Amino acid sequence: LRRDPDQKEFLQAVDEVFESLTPVFEKDIRYLEAFERLVEPERQIIFRVPWVDDKGVQQVNRGFRVQMSSALGPYKGGLRFHPTVNLSVVKFLAFEQTFKNSLTTLMMGSGKGGSDFNPRDRSDNEIMSFCQSFMTELFRHIGSDTDVPAGDINVGGREIGYLFGQYKRLANNFTGVLTGKDLRWGGSLIRPEATGYGCVYFAKNYLAYKGESLEGKRCVVSGSGNVAQYTAEKLLQLGAVPITFSDSNGYILEPNGFTQEQIEHVMELKNVKRVRISEYCAFSETAQYFEGKKPWEVSADLAFPSATQNEIDEADAKILIANGVRGVFEGANMPSTNEAIEIYKSASVMFGPAKAANAGGVAVSGLEMAQNSQRLQWTREDVDSQLERIMKDIFDNSLAAATTYNLKGDIQAGANIAGFLKVAEAMIHQGCV
Ligand code: NDP
Repeated sequence: LRRDPDQKEFLQAVDEVFESLTPVFEKDIRYLEAFERLVEPERQIIFRVPWVDDKGVQQVNRGFRVQMSSALGPYKGGLRFHPTVNLSVVKFLAFEQTFKNSLTTLMMGSGKGGSDFNPRDRSDNEIMSFCQSFMTELFRHIGSDTDVPAGDINVGGREIGYLFGQYKRLANNFTGVLTGKDLRWGGSLIRPEATGYGCVYFAKNYLAYKGESLEGKRCVVSGSGNVAQYTAEKLLQLGAVPITFSDSNGYILEPNGFTQEQIEHVMELKNVKRVRISEYCAFSETAQYFEGKKPWEVSADLAFPSATQNEIDEADAKILIANGVRGVFEGANMPSTNEAIEIYKSASVMFGPAKAANAGGVAVSGLEMAQNSQRLQWTREDVDSQLERIMKDIFDNSLAAATTYNLKGDIQAGANIAGFLKVAEAMIHQGCV
């Protein structure tokens, strides 16, 4: 860690895990040695992505792939296209992915990648050119048994299609090298829904453990992309009341909760028309829009941060709790700062940390890989029931680890310990590599 003192997001993610692993390190020094190796990625690839825009002007972006750990299987983790992407962000995401993938109970290593490319206001042709150039370098580093990328912020079905097309052309190989593919050519049913649905299944298990249910709970959701949309949909299906969506400009509030038709309209605006969330207000007389604000100021029972890292800081956490929130379930990666997590703990708020609560997406990616290997497609009911079982196992295993280490039901520490032990044992068995 001394090597990268400026990588603040990465150091934040490592700090959060390190602290909760102290009882494990005290038990066996080999775990500490494994952790020391784990914080150094197995491989980091940084590359030039040149492309030409619609005006004929040359553009250059920076591409990244961090292959963090192959202790449990091929590297696995998404690609993010956003101007804030840098090595620290990709490393924090790859580090978190290690524990998350281990928690899914499937055999997947960890990685993450992306680019500082900003797709906002770019034409479809420009997106395709960028994706093709990005894959022209990435293809030599990935493979269905080596490294299997997926989507993340601004990388959805359209981008996965362009990336896959270019991979296939260069490698002369139709293989399950990416997940999140379209259903008609190798994708899995329930993959688009998986992260949001999984996060709500996790919340359901946590609430049941506390003798409560989702019924009637008012829920603030941030973001309006893939994770936010399907979080809201599953909340509604299970009797809860999703009341907000947001984007980087502001948030919208439906005081009586979004209906299925209204959620579908949000999907249309964000996935097809690709416009700002404020446009939703033209569709609903009851909706209100708050420019430049985050939804944490709305009074609610539960919060589902589903946009980006560090979207809840200490002050936001205090506001959430003052507004009645008693549970925070992280759909986004590292949406809460470490100071915010301390506030949740001191107020005994139920806390579903990202590595556990949002692991449903990569879990179904693992199921997509299994279907690709079999050259079969499983039914929607089959994949959904496997997702629901995996999210229950993640909650149960996190709780069991917290109990074993006498941590009084601390699900955050339990998830870190359960995720880490499986990876560390594999690293110890495989020798100093
Ligand atoms: P999308 O690109 O579909 O949506 C991202 C949403 O977050 C948009 O509403 C976007 O608003 C908002 N957002 C992004 N950056 C910022 C920012 N800096 N400030 C405020 N709002 C922002 O991405 P996903 O829904 O896939 O991902 C959301 C989060 O979930 C990420 O943290 C991702 O890592 C995590 N995640 C995703 C998984 C998946 O399966 N997709 C799996 C596990 C975790 P705008 O349009 O204004 O940028």
